[in-house]
Amino acid sequence: MKTYQHFIDGQYVDPLGGEWIDTVNPYTGQAWARVPKGCARDVDRAVQAAHRAMTTGPFARMTPTQRGKLMLRLADLVAANAQRLAEVEVRDNGKLYSEMKGQLDYHPEWWRYYGGLADKLEGSVMPIDKPDHFAFTTHEPVGVVGALTAWNSPLLFVAWKCAPAIAAGCAVVVKPSEFASASTLEFAALTREAGFPDGVFNVVTGLGAAAGAALVDHPDVAKITFTGSDSTGRQIYAQAARTMKRVTLELGGKSPNIVFDDCDLGKAAAGVISGIFAATGQTCIAGSRLLVQNSIREAFTQRVVELGASARKGDPMSPDTNIGPVTTPPQYRKILDYIDVARREGARCVLGGAPAAGMPGGQFVEPTIFVDVTPQMRIAREEVFGPVLSIIGFDDEEEAIRLANDTIYGLAAGVWTENMGRAVRMSRALRAGTVWVNTYRAVSFMMPFGGMKQSGIGRESGVESIRAYLETKSTLISFAEGAPANPFVLR
Ligand code: NAD
Repeated sequence: MKTYQHFIDGQYVDPLGGEWIDTVNPYTGQAWARVPKGCARDVDRAVQAAHRAMTTGPFARMTPTQRGKLMLRLADLVAANAQRLAEVEVRDNGKLYSEMKGQLDYHPEWWRYYGGLADKLEGSVMPIDKPDHFAFTTHEPVGVVGALTAWNSPLLFVAWKCAPAIAAGCAVVVKPSEFASASTLEFAALTREAGFPDGVFNVVTGLGAAAGAALVDHPDVAKITFTGSDSTGRQIYAQAARTMKRVTLELGGKSPNIVFDDCDLGKAAAGVISGIFAATGQTCIAGSRLLVQNSIREAFTQRVVELGASARKGDPMSPDTNIGPVTTPPQYRKILDYIDVARREGARCVLGGAPAAGMPGGQFVEPTIFVDVTPQMRIAREEVFGPVLSIIGFDDEEEAIRLANDTIYGLAAGVWTENMGRAVRMSRALRAGTVWVNTYRAVSFMMPFGGMKQSGIGRESGVESIRAYLETKSTLISFAEGAPANPFVLR
């Protein structure tokens, strides 16, 4: 069994507490490696290394152009190692190799995009209204960044968070999910190979309540960027307030996929399936509520059920597999509990609704579809994070908007229509950070991503997200000659 170490100050090091956690392959149910069970002392060591890198190390003296070049080199190294890293992720989180390899092939674009942006963070010279003053703004790195990531796409989240942070001049300490830490630890070696100075990129693994909480509490961490559940997000938001940390929170969702009777039904059915069964439903953007126009509800439901039934379960490494295992035992139990709750509340199961028999590792759930769902049911309101779809009918645009927005979440929404006026109206009316029209699960390094309402705070990707890693400084220089100004009045 492989034994991993933390990556701190450019070196792989053992945990100070001398403890490890087994990391389990969800497909086989067997532990395949162990990762350090980090404690507050490990976190402190990493934060100090990051702080040194930002203040006294060579990184602090680098020009933004030099930082950008390092990032471009890292991008090429990730591209060259995409297959190996994707295999590690599949072993750790059980998601399909095709999905993880696709993510790893795309991952370098974030380093390229923000590497190119590093030396374009211009300040402004202000046409200041005060005579004899020269005034300008500059953007400075916010400070050491603590990045907490979820298990479903570990290295994608590293790119989303660390590429803008490092482009901005910040050093980072990443605490990946205890369920899938190995790929982030492997990735760390590539930052060293790319020439990142020691301490710029650090990884401390361990439990959320110990290593994660220590990072959020650390006084020398200026900003926390978090991807995970809304309950942990709330806790972190409150905890970060104690030291006035800046926070970006990417949380969960209950995203509606809205199908109008004027759409291309074949494309819509494939989009609905991709929204809920891809990645075994374990994505924050899962389109877990299908809102379908009543005029086509029965026929469309039939189509989606047939397509869902044809999804092949199996080994996530096989190119023939569509549905892999659920990643963690608690998540597996949570999905089955929600299926029970839906039945008890009166929803009718028309596909799946049970563990999948005969699969290794014991953590497979059948793709599941419920009809007769009402908007008040828990299955229509709470995030399941699994392959469970709720279908609700609507009559017209107004009702679709009302149902879609009737949620505490606001991460994403899908709209299926051939009517472009309707597409624009829906995009305006939906309270969601991303609206997809006639597509679903399309993300890009240049498109801001994040949630409205309780789906989070802030955005990742795109130019604007780099601002979350910067502080703006205003400098005013007086070149007035003559007697000093009255010291008792505001200038
Ligand atoms: P989680 O909240 O359990 O854990 C996320 C990370 O936070 C892990 O690294 C964990 O160790 C750490 N953590 C846990 N408790 C902590 C604490 N008290 N203090 C500090 N850190 C702590 O989430 P998860 O189960 O790993 O991921 C699933 C969730 O992530 C789902 O709710 C999903 O919707 C959400 N998610 C959101 C996005 C997005 O971009 N919006 C993307 C993927 C997943």
